[in-house]
Order: sequence, then structure tokens, then C-alpha cells
Amino acid sequence: MKCVNCPNEDVIYNCFLCSSPLCAQCESKLRGNSVCPGCLERLRQRRAAEYEEETEHLNCPCGFLLGLLIAVGAAVAWSQVALLTGGSFEVGAVLLGGMVGYAVMKGAGDKRGYVLQQIAAVLTLAGILFAYFLVLLRAEHQAYADLSGDSPLFAALCAFPGYFCELGTLAWALLALGALLAYYIPRVRTPPAGL
Ligand SMILES: [Zn+2]
Ligand SMILES: [Zn+2]
Repeated sequence: MKCVNCPNEDVIYNCFLCSSPLCAQCESKLRGNSVCPGCLERLRQRRAAEYEEETEHLNCPCGFLLGLLIAVGAAVAWSQVALLTGGSFEVGAVLLGGMVGYAVMKGAGDKRGYVLQQIAAVLTLAGILFAYFLVLLRAEHQAYADLSGDSPLFAALCAFPGYFCELGTLAWALLALGALLAYYIPRVRTPPAGL
């Protein structure tokens, strides 16, 4: 039997997709499988189309706005739970990061990319800061009602650095996990070129 492309060459391989007989020169390897030039080209084109579908024409402003909305909403909800229960629950940061990452991706038109990853991570960090700020503001409001002092807003801002200094390792790990999750979700899944 002779190669499908080369009438003088003996068949050594068969394409794992279309079973075409192939000589050594016409065979390529795709993850350990023999593949013919035609199938390889079709796969490349499909991969390129998937990459384009996934990464092009993304609506960054819309992704940002939806992510911002979710970040603010999640921060308010998280701070309320923390205030009601008297704990600070850093696991809220992981939920916030996951929701923001997903919202940025969907808001941009179900697209993925490095820019969206950055937007999601920054919005998550902003959301985390906002959640802590709401908790501190409430605490300072209560202190302000008890005894006269600085304005609650100013006092809450002043209390910020100290509050973060007192966070434990687990809390920091959860905050970082939230930001990483937001960064991970809108990543590009299809490699841009080759196979
Ligand atoms: Zn083939
Ligand atoms: Zn050949």
C-alpha cells in the first residue's frame, strides 16, 4: 500500500482521524497520534476559530461594570454577614472573587483574556477592601455614638492598616485565593497558535 500523497512511498502510518495511509514524510505527531496534513490543517483552523471566538470582540466596559456591580453587592452582603455574626469570615473573599471573575467574563460577552483577568483581580481586591471598610465603618459608628471622637469615616480609614496587620495567615491566604480565583476564571483556555 502506498501513501495517499506520495505514490512511490510505502505506508508506515495511518491518520488517527481519517485513517489515510501515510508515509514517514507526510505523517505528523499530535499528542502521540499520527495525523495527516489535511486533518492537521483542519484542526489548526478550528483551533484558530475557537481562539477568535473566545478572545476577540470583547466588551471590556460592560465586563468591568458587571464585575463592579457584583463586587459591590458581594462586599455589602459579606460585610452584613460578618457584622450579624460577629466574625469576619475571609471565606467571603473567595466567594466574591469567584463571582466577580464570572461576572467580568459574562459581562464582556462570554469572552476571555488577559485584560479581563486583570479587571477581575483588581475589582476583587477593591471589593475586599470595600467589605472590610463597611465592617470598620459600622464599628466606628457604634464607637462614635458611645463617645465623641473623630468622625466615623475618618476613624474607619485610620483603623484600616491596623486591621489588616492583625489578620492571620489563614485570612490572608483566603483573601489571596479570592483574587487568584477572579484572575483564573476569565483565562484563555484555547492556545493561540499550533496544536
Ligand atoms: Zn487525516
Ligand atoms: Zn507521503
